[in-house]
Amino acid sequence: MLRLCLILFGSPGSGKGTQAKLLKDAFNIAHISTGDMLRERIAAGDELGKQVDSIIKAGKLVPDEAVNQMVADRTLQKDCENGFILDGYPRTVEQAKWLTSWFAAEKFHPTAVRPKVVHLEVDYNVIMARISGRRQCPICGTLYNTAQEPDRVACDLEGAKLVIRDDDREDVVRERLNAYERQTAPVLAFLREAGYMCSEVAGGADPKVIARQIEQNIRKECANLA
Ligand SMILES: [Zn+2]
Repeated sequence: MLRLCLILFGSPGSGKGTQAKLLKDAFNIAHISTGDMLRERIAAGDELGKQVDSIIKAGKLVPDEAVNQMVADRTLQKDCENGFILDGYPRTVEQAKWLTSWFAAEKFHPTAVRPKVVHLEVDYNVIMARISGRRQCPICGTLYNTAQEPDRVACDLEGAKLVIRDDDREDVVRERLNAYERQTAPVLAFLREAGYMCSEVAGGADPKVIARQIEQNIRKECANLA
């Protein structure tokens, strides 16, 4: 049986979280989010969790070896039998190097499909429109979007005047997108060089349509391999 591995990339505002959920269900595979995993380890309070917690609190990056090991351990769990989606990993070229050599290792053959990179690319203007419509209630935190409700100015719950979050200001969003680009470009370049298929998917359309398109591409590829 083939084991599927999708490596999912997507900028802020690309709908990566939604795609991860849809693809997880479509293929009945596990969703491995390194961000969630780190938070779970911290919450668990075990030895590794404590180390991770103190590293993050000190404003440092968790070492690549620790993240690599966590991902490798996670893929041994039962829900990864059919395969898994990697979300938020690999984040560095070092992690990508480790991942490719790990996939090339004996124990992954012959049941693994060559890992496939899915890169959700969304037009800058679409992301800006999506994010710049966001408004938040300063009292209860409820989020609204003026793209869906152009006349919306106040919160339903206590009538507070809605505000634009600092995170959603245009200059902040642009900087987040630039940071994503700087961080991701070398990782994607490495994976492409390593012969991993990189499919660029425009993320502007309906999420379900995008997920179906990704699913069909992958099924076609798996059929070719089988
Ligand atoms: Zn409110």
